[in-house]
Amino acid sequence: MVKLAAKCILAGDPTVGKTALVQLFRSDGAHFQKNYTLTTGVDLVVKTVPVPDTGDSVELFIFDSAGKELFSEMLDKLWESPNVLCLVYDVTNEQSFTNCSKWLEKARSQIPGATLPGVLVGNKTDLAGRRVVDVAQAQAWALGQGLECFETSVTQRWDC
Ligand code: GDP
Ligand code: MG
Repeated sequence: MVKLAAKCILAGDPTVGKTALVQLFRSDGAHFQKNYTLTTGVDLVVKTVPVPDTGDSVELFIFDSAGKELFSEMLDKLWESPNVLCLVYDVTNEQSFTNCSKWLEKARSQIPGATLPGVLVGNKTDLAGRRVVDVAQAQAWALGQGLECFETSVTQRWDC
């Protein structure tokens, strides 16, 4: 039985739902707060996840930041030596999708020469009438970047 540790950085524009998603993940889906306020600082969420079909597990250290400090020294410090990336955008906000390339570049620059595995997550699929980023568009970009692609909503978890 092996217990691994991985540092996961959560990236994406402000208000895309990073904090809501990570808090939902921490609480196993039981505690989504609809009036969640914007993150003011930095939050570290630690959760152990079993590796399927093995006795092994990974202790995930998820770093959630307010997202306003793009290209700041604080973000550099916070994002030092990541192992995995979770890149989040809002399917109702085109700009948040476009900015994913900047977030990805920033994350990858933390470990030059090494591969940073990651996922692209389109959030807020419950707001179907306001969707502006379609799945195919996101999939195509994610594929080109070597990221796995998912869509979800913190209000409709079965959508994952
Ligand atoms: P962050 O800045 O990326 O951490 O975003 P937050 O987690 O603070 O969420 C910003 C706002 O979006 C909050 O009002 C959340 O309640 C709301 N929100 C987050 N995820 C969803 C979602 O899947 N659907 C809807 N409708 N609202 C969401
Ligand atoms: Mg936040």
